[in-house]
Amino acid sequence: MSKKLVFERHAKTVLSDSQDFAHKLLCTGPTLNLGDACVYSCQYCYVSAMMWRLLAPLLKAVNLSHRDIVVRRGNSLQVLENQLRTHAGILRESERRKKHVVFTSTTVDPAGNMELVKESAELMCRILEETNWDIRVLSKSNLLPQLAKLIPDKWKHRVIYGVSSGTLDDDLARAIEAGTALVSKRLQSLHWLQDNGYRTFGMICPALPQTNYDEFAEKICNAIRVEKCEDVWAEGINARGKSFPATLQALQTAGKMSEASLLCTVALPGTQRAEEEYKRQLFLALAGRIPATKFKFLQYVESPEDHTWWKDQQKNGAVLLGSLVHSKPKKQKNQQESVPPQEAAPPELTAAQHAAKKAWVTKRAKYSAAEISARSKAAAFKAWETRRRNQQMSS
Ligand code: SF4
Repeated sequence: MSKKLVFERHAKTVLSDSQDFAHKLLCTGPTLNLGDACVYSCQYCYVSAMMWRLLAPLLKAVNLSHRDIVVRRGNSLQVLENQLRTHAGILRESERRKKHVVFTSTTVDPAGNMELVKESAELMCRILEETNWDIRVLSKSNLLPQLAKLIPDKWKHRVIYGVSSGTLDDDLARAIEAGTALVSKRLQSLHWLQDNGYRTFGMICPALPQTNYDEFAEKICNAIRVEKCEDVWAEGINARGKSFPATLQALQTAGKMSEASLLCTVALPGTQRAEEEYKRQLFLALAGRIPATKFKFLQYVESPEDHTWWKDQQKNGAVLLGSLVHSKPKKQKNQQESVPPQEAAPPELTAAQHAAKKAWVTKRAKYSAAEISARSKAAAFKAWETRRRNQQMSS
């Protein structure tokens, strides 16, 4: 698949509850993830850090990095049905009848090729059938129209489609993303959806530092047709940790020296103020072109003084994130990422909130971190059903 080795994990969940993505307003809590390692390889991707603990035994066993493999969740339709129906109480009837918005996906591109499009469509149809939820689907492919055609017309009004890009420059995107569709093709697919009456949203992400923010904002807002999008999210690049050297090297290798040097001005150690200034300029330029009712600029706020500035911009579309804004409840021992245990509800929750939280209890993945560390590499490797596919799949 995209010349990557493909593995299947016997996960027990494809639906999770993500307060992080609810805070980003991309969903009301539910997320649908059909894999743990993406068919694409974006230099700035943060999923490998999220999945490191879960996938470490596999990655060590095969001596590959997260970006070198695809990990799908095996038997995904059955797993979804188990979560929706079979185990009464895992997802209560009252929860299914709520007007949730589920986001797909937080870990992989749900429409990276036609096989994934078909899998996503099949599971989305089950959710649409079994719940009252709307579904927000985000991709860096140009295959969302194919996905839309697989969703029966009776549910057309319950799916919202968006393509993601922080640039309009095909060459620049190709320098920092591998396998994704050309930005121009993504935009064509977005326009097709808009022209054919589908609900759409914009995702300007990750927007790199610019020399002229107003010009950038004007061009990208025109390109995504802000007036036809229900909402528009935007975010600067969070080029800390491993994503910075990877993105920088990719830009340099592709000969994008001016973009590389601009990135250095906001991402090297000691450039925090420059990074903050870049995010503010980006926000202000976009806020000048996107109505506040639609605009959602995702900003991690790390200092009290920055918090004051961004809090004042909430009325213009700033969405504040981070520990200063949202304190996280402590995780239970051996708790799977993003799956809150029943006992995690803080005492101040109302009875109704507590009941809603309980409804989201899902079973942990097959192996806990403690179990994994206790296994030898070989034993851990046996925990995975491995399927090698040498031929590149049609996309
Ligand atoms: S498409 Fe998304 S999940 Fe996939 S590699 Fe790129 S950033 Fe990561």
